Amino acid sequence: MIHFPTISPTSLRLIFVSILLFCAYSIGLWDYGNQKLNSFNFSTPPSISLDAPTDTIESLEPEFTDETLEVKSGDSFSSVLNRAGLSNNQIYAIVKVLRLIFNPRDLRTDHKLFISYRTNQKEKNEKEIDRLVIQLSIEKEIIVELGEDGLLKAKLHTKKLIHDYRHAEGKIKNSLYVDAVRQGAHPKIIHDMIQAFSYDVDFQRSFHSGDSYVLLFDFHKNPNTLEEKPGHILFARLTLKGVDISIYRHKSKNGVIQYYNEKGEAVKKGLLMTPVDGARISGTFGRRKHPVLGYTKMHKGIDFAAPTGTPIMAAGAGKIMRIGRFSSYGNYIKIKHNSKYSTAYAHISRFAKGLKVGSSVRQGQVIAYVGRTGRATGPHLHYELLANGKQINPRRVKMMPARKLKGKELQTFLANKDIIDKRLENLRAG
Ligand SMILES: [Zn+2]
Repeated sequence: MIHFPTISPTSLRLIFVSILLFCAYSIGLWDYGNQKLNSFNFSTPPSISLDAPTDTIESLEPEFTDETLEVKSGDSFSSVLNRAGLSNNQIYAIVKVLRLIFNPRDLRTDHKLFISYRTNQKEKNEKEIDRLVIQLSIEKEIIVELGEDGLLKAKLHTKKLIHDYRHAEGKIKNSLYVDAVRQGAHPKIIHDMIQAFSYDVDFQRSFHSGDSYVLLFDFHKNPNTLEEKPGHILFARLTLKGVDISIYRHKSKNGVIQYYNEKGEAVKKGLLMTPVDGARISGTFGRRKHPVLGYTKMHKGIDFAAPTGTPIMAAGAGKIMRIGRFSSYGNYIKIKHNSKYSTAYAHISRFAKGLKVGSSVRQGQVIAYVGRTGRATGPHLHYELLANGKQINPRRVKMMPARKLKGKELQTFLANKDIIDKRLENLRAG
């Protein structure tokens, strides 16, 4: 609605022009009713000649406005456009053409919408769409546009992205995450880096002043919007207390992509088969007559006989979920390695210093010492592997030892490593 607080001669002229324009536009709207399904006819109002001051005419000229529309969760395509102030007729017309190439139901909160419209001041300030861009990803966008023929058209544009490399490096002052993001590393890349190093580094307490990092990664960039999509880490190095740990990305000939150190040893490690050095297996997984209780019972772990005080190592990197006395298990530790696997260690004589629930441990870190607490006939480690909380036979699970590249595969890796090293050198020089 247009409100006129006072009726001045100028206002009266305005009303008169408005009425005229409204009549003209109504003819256009009537035309709209007869439009084809996938097009929307925006009839331009017939030109009119009026004996009115030029500035009044100018103030009625449609002006273009650009707006970015936010897609909130629970939104439909129509509700977004509705919030932007488009009329139902406009929304209907847009959806009609859009449907030919995009299902409006597939609209997601991470899609970006840009709209360009003009405000038709003669007709209740109604907004008329000129252009709507739906950015689906950094390379794909849909453009709904008003053509010169006055019809709305929808087109899908796929932009060719530029592939490029970047490096980031520096001292770790706050956290690897904070410092590397400031140096231009994408959060996803840092997340990947932490994951790749998690077999060797405890990120909760490994950093000291003077520690540093180097990161080389690739990305894809939209040349128009300059938006970037992170690719992968090609190389990363952490220098902790003066010791370098490096990882290189390598695709093996069977297509498996993994990270290796400079010697070609896989960074990713399986769980240790034997968490105690020099122990012999004294009890296997399965049904057996219980040595203490006398009746047949399921033995849900593997027993390793070893003298009291023998160090017990964490079978893999992870977080301590339980540590302390646990009924017939005696002194007990449970480590969660990932969303699926955990390991448990029982009959412990004592725990390694400083460990508590929530502590993270590295693979091979000494966590406790063999003993005979709880229900045990002699000193041994009772070791359990749990998958989704249930004990399973560790011997039945493929726990790959650290894989080392050999022969021709190692040669390929080293050649690839040289290329990566040179690329980093060039980036640092540039
Ligand atoms: Zn046992």
